[in-house]
Amino acid sequence: MKAVEFNSGKTPNWCPGCGNFAIWNAIKGALAELEISGKDIVNISGIGCSGKMLNYLRTYGFHTLHGRTMPVATGIKLTNHKLTVLVNGGDGDGYGMGMGHFIHAIRRNLNITYLIHNNHVYGLTTGQASPTTDKGLKSKSTPHGVIDEPLNGLFVSLSAGATFIARGYSGDLEHLKSIIKAGIIHNGFSHIEILQPCVTFGKHYGYEYYDERVYRIADDYNPGNFEEALKLIRKKDKIALGIIYRIDRPTQEEQLPQIKDKTLIDQGIVKRDISAMLKS
Ligand code: SF4
Repeated sequence: MKAVEFNSGKTPNWCPGCGNFAIWNAIKGALAELEISGKDIVNISGIGCSGKMLNYLRTYGFHTLHGRTMPVATGIKLTNHKLTVLVNGGDGDGYGMGMGHFIHAIRRNLNITYLIHNNHVYGLTTGQASPTTDKGLKSKSTPHGVIDEPLNGLFVSLSAGATFIARGYSGDLEHLKSIIKAGIIHNGFSHIEILQPCVTFGKHYGYEYYDERVYRIADDYNPGNFEEALKLIRKKDKIALGIIYRIDRPTQEEQLPQIKDKTLIDQGIVKRDISAMLKS
């Protein structure tokens, strides 16, 4: 399929200038270049502006409850691990409500690609502070300023044992596309955090803010070095973009004897035809 063929035909209703447009285009470009057909992809979405992604992609999809993308993605992957499973959710969805699921999905190392659109705010509900909002920042839910420390999602995933950690920026589409491609190719759980300006409710973290701080990681960087990854993740003055950490570790599906060689679908345990399942 060409990138344009991944358009579902529905017109996105994100605000003009929203970083989600670039993420949408990067996903379509990555899938096209990897030559994966829409019929072999399931896109799981959380709740939030990022969650609308599944409406605009010609793939299978599942719109979950808030923070519950990982249980659904896990179920789908364990049922038919031949599918490419993509997850799109926001920082509130993944690092807030879904944090418990996120950590345990990382431990399992299922072959899932998780795109966390980090805009530092709850955009869909018009601008409340999220787990990644900086301390002191005033928002609708924190009129006197945030009093909690912000969460560093990449630090959490490195500590939890992630095998692929990357950071992209919606203001650098080609680079983001290459990161998404690498995440999908990686055999294991890929955590890709995408810096995504919310131009309507997250004005403190706009394109100008990022353009002054982001830089691409050098080509000779070794992503297999834990200590170096930790340094990049904890860096405060500048923001590194690229593949920060990547190691090999067996996936959960490779270690489960029940599905290692044949999916539950191929074994006939789970029926392809949902109507047949409902009748049985
Ligand atoms: Fe994008 Fe923010 Fe508008 Fe949501 S509210 S569509 S995140 S700009």
